Amino acid sequence: MIMASLARGGFIGASWRRAAGIALGSVLCAAPVSAQVAPECGGVLPAAAKLPDLMNMYPTHVHVQEQDKHDRLMFTVGLTNVGQGPLELAPESSLTDPSELVNANQNVYDGGTNATGSLLCRRSLHDAFVFHPEHHHWHLVGVNGFEVRPALDDGTGGSWDTSRIIGSAFKESFCLLDYIKMDDEQLAAFALALPPREYFDCFGTHGISVGWFDTYHHATHGQYIDITGAPAGIYYLVVTANPDKLFLETDYTNNRSWVSFRLEYNGDNNAIATDLYNSFDTAGEGVRPPSATNR
Ligand SMILES: [Zn+2]
Repeated sequence: MIMASLARGGFIGASWRRAAGIALGSVLCAAPVSAQVAPECGGVLPAAAKLPDLMNMYPTHVHVQEQDKHDRLMFTVGLTNVGQGPLELAPESSLTDPSELVNANQNVYDGGTNATGSLLCRRSLHDAFVFHPEHHHWHLVGVNGFEVRPALDDGTGGSWDTSRIIGSAFKESFCLLDYIKMDDEQLAAFALALPPREYFDCFGTHGISVGWFDTYHHATHGQYIDITGAPAGIYYLVVTANPDKLFLETDYTNNRSWVSFRLEYNGDNNAIATDLYNSFDTAGEGVRPPSATNR
């Protein structure tokens, strides 16, 4: 397809990042980075489109850290792509000025990777990249939503009070990368063939390839929910990928996972959180964290 081959030779997706990274000569650099030729993905996607499908691993390492007299619920989360194609988000202009928000294009291909497929269309996302000063790199907004809800059960059944929220729900931004491979059993369960690592640049095109995880450790700056003053009891930490459906996916119904935990206060009034149950083992929701050795 002419359009696609033009695009792949130019500033699209990974090609764009490589071109920018190695500062190609005048011909390519003369073209504005935003001169992407793929059409906007319309209401009906091309039949050949291979969309990603985001899922959350259930949160782990749930614990409380006290800081400045506030109790912060800390946790590790992670996203994986079990879809037919990559989640690829390319900045419309170079990610250089930390004071600017930068638009993104979600690139949709007709193959399992951007190397084996042709670019079919793009979804434009306004102000999607933001510079994260504590991490000194760029994040995509609206990637994952976090909420803490009081349990209406013993933590096994995923029944929580939808009218009450502890702390505030928030939508976290991330630098999306191919960070850890799925375990072989997970690849087999989703019938996925693992492509090579493609996305690893927080200053360029972000993405998660099929069969890869991006995980965010509990020590990640800013990744916590303030639960100061929450009464002792059982709670759910609920995480929902792509909560505003900003990114095109094959399935928005499998984006959630959760872990329940008990909150207690010891004799010194220090808050202590202990994991109880997770959505994967009890309800088949979400995915298990991959082995840390898969990097
Ligand atoms: Zn970051």
